[in-house]
Amino acid sequence: MNSEPSPYKKPSVAIAGAGITGLTAAFRLRQAGVNVTLYEAGSRAGGVIQSVREHGFLAEFGPNSILETSGKISSLIRDAGLEPRRMYSDPAAENRYLVRGARPVSLPASPLKFFGTALFSLGAKLRLLREPFIRRAPADIEESVAQFVLRRLGQEWLDYAINPMIAGIYAGDPARLSVTYGFPKLQALEQRYGSLILGQIRGAKERKARGEVSKQEAKKVSFDEGLQVLTDTLAASLGSALKLNSPVARLEQNTAGWRVTVRANSGETASDHAAVLLAAPAYKLAELDLRSPAGLSLVPLRDIHYPPVASVVLGFRREDVPHPLDGFGMLVPAVERFSILGTLFSSSLFPNRAPAGHVLLTTYVGGVRAPELALRPESELVALTVKDLRTILGVRGEPTYQHCVLYGKAIPQYEVGYGRFKALMDEAEAKAPGLFLAGHFRNGISLGDSILAGHDVAERIRGWLGRSQSG
Ligand SMILES: Cc1cc2nc3c(=O)[nH]c(=O)nc-3n(C[C@H](O)[C@H](O)[C@H](O)COP(=O)(O)OP(=O)(O)OC[C@H]3O[C@@H](n4cnc5c(N)ncnc54)[C@H](O)[C@@H]3O)c2cc1C
Repeated sequence: MNSEPSPYKKPSVAIAGAGITGLTAAFRLRQAGVNVTLYEAGSRAGGVIQSVREHGFLAEFGPNSILETSGKISSLIRDAGLEPRRMYSDPAAENRYLVRGARPVSLPASPLKFFGTALFSLGAKLRLLREPFIRRAPADIEESVAQFVLRRLGQEWLDYAINPMIAGIYAGDPARLSVTYGFPKLQALEQRYGSLILGQIRGAKERKARGEVSKQEAKKVSFDEGLQVLTDTLAASLGSALKLNSPVARLEQNTAGWRVTVRANSGETASDHAAVLLAAPAYKLAELDLRSPAGLSLVPLRDIHYPPVASVVLGFRREDVPHPLDGFGMLVPAVERFSILGTLFSSSLFPNRAPAGHVLLTTYVGGVRAPELALRPESELVALTVKDLRTILGVRGEPTYQHCVLYGKAIPQYEVGYGRFKALMDEAEAKAPGLFLAGHFRNGISLGDSILAGHDVAERIRGWLGRSQSG
């Protein structure tokens, strides 16, 4: 994309944003001998990843696990020296629950069990048999996830499978998310195989031949003291190349490369770099004072929708939770009319998350479904969560531990029309040599996606520096 060579001779790269994307890119670039400065606006690295141990509980307020879908994720963990601290989730936690009729119902683990499940009506099960015969949509039509699923699978699949799944991944709404940008693999299954079901079967065989792992099969990874172990370790490896409390405010492209201005409490400081990687959230990139001869503006990125999500982490005495908590967690479809989006059975997923005789549950509230609920004060968040947990899981007694964290702008929604943002990012890179963008707003929203984005953009930057030095 960035094809024009830079006359700047010393390969120095500035990165804005020390979330997992910026940290991965900085780590990989330094390994390759590139001079990096990583600027972070906040007082800590890690972005939305926050693991806190208190009162014997280990709470994850942001993401809970990484799906190890790629060798690039495993090699980052290995190269950071973290293999001895890596933990895979308990295989017993593969079980997943969906709420139907106000009860948690186990998702069938095999196609055979699927026909016996009470989760879907006979009509919905039979509807699956029709799916391979439904014609594919024209490739150039952009549908919402809801339109796509209604067309191929019908209302019950939308309400009881896709709606809760989207709440669990995006805290989003299927009627607004784009299947093209939010779930490109789903659309590809239809376009390539003419059917989601046939595509799943054939795609699994092809993945096996390529040595890849699907998200459904991938192992879930964390560390002995939570995910923050990874970001803390990457941050520590950078030493003084990581600048905290250093928000990038202005970028000026000149003949030598890029002048990067940081506006901290102590005043403004500027430094010169051959290339710049923007890995801060899109709404922050929209605020940058970007000065480039091409007259670029990232202001339109402010229209990317980031709903608020509150994480409500609660500890209970084991005897106060009658449910076996034998699984990953439960998702709540909107049609069930509860306040919460879903709950992770955190102490079943990984060991040492709760003191002996206690369990830890992590519940998400808000998202596109009910943004106003995420903004409630902590006492109300805890009360509405406990109320739902009492009804669904039969929880008794009061929490023995509680901690809520609000992500005011949590996860970008790849809604219908997201292509205009992607096109703007492509255009910015093409018109401003040495400018790169990567992160959850461009390359997929999961942690795994962000690690791959950091890895891949580091490769692109190295390639560009190599070309510009020899040019
Ligand atoms: C509540 C929640 C739960 C999640 N659960 C999961 C999960 O279980 N599994 C999963 O795979 N994914 C999950 N995700 C998604 C995943 O965590 C994120 O997509 C990913 O961590 C994003 O990383 P990032 O580096 O792209 O961005 P961020 O983590 O947002 O980092 C961006 C950084 O840029 C900094 N910054 C902002 N402005 C500037 C500036 N001007 N200059 C310099 N720095 C700046 C910010 O302070 C921040 O540190 C979850 C997300 C949330 C919010």
